[in-house]
Amino acid sequence: MKKINLVEIISDDVFVVDLMYAKKENMLLKDVYSIIGMGNRCFVQPDLWFCLQKLIPILRENQFKLKICDAYRPKEAFDLMKKIVPMKGFFAQSAELSQHCHASAIDVTLLDNNGNELDFPCAVDAYEEKYAKQVVQGEVDEFYKHLEKAKYSWNAPEDAKKIKNRDMLRQMMETVGLLSLPHEWWHFNLPNKEKYPLVNSVFYTDGKCEFFI
Ligand SMILES: [Zn+2]
Repeated sequence: MKKINLVEIISDDVFVVDLMYAKKENMLLKDVYSIIGMGNRCFVQPDLWFCLQKLIPILRENQFKLKICDAYRPKEAFDLMKKIVPMKGFFAQSAELSQHCHASAIDVTLLDNNGNELDFPCAVDAYEEKYAKQVVQGEVDEFYKHLEKAKYSWNAPEDAKKIKNRDMLRQMMETVGLLSLPHEWWHFNLPNKEKYPLVNSVFYTDGKCEFFI
């Protein structure tokens, strides 16, 4: 195995690190990142950091902050998540197929200058406590229906303002070279995914961490 470096993103005046799997308000209702020892720490490939640096002037100009809800997802966390939510199509089929496990993807939303989240057709991960409670019980029908709002094809007239925000975010992220996914408005990843193998990690209790491919 070869040691590699990832960039750790720390919250500042433009980036807010608030990883959804480092707290219980997510579709798992569990803080798996705390369970595996990573906690609310945000790591990305240097190439992804390069794209995000290009985003800084755009965010400042528009008086937005980028809230990062997920970034690098260790394989240990991914495997736990798959066990908790064995729902077809919600997570990638394997860690190998999840760009998050390669540190080449981020899930984001936009905040205004006061730190309030802009309105989007649904929350990141389409999370709502009531759906999460259903899904962990194996009742997925209502949530699948709700997931339609995560798609770029969602186009309800009553959601016009939310859709405008969604499309603005997409445009901002694509301008700096990231790719969007048709079924998750919050997800963006690096192009040329074959360049980024699965990243293994070790988190030590003193806060140090190491990454390997
Ligand atoms: Zn994602």
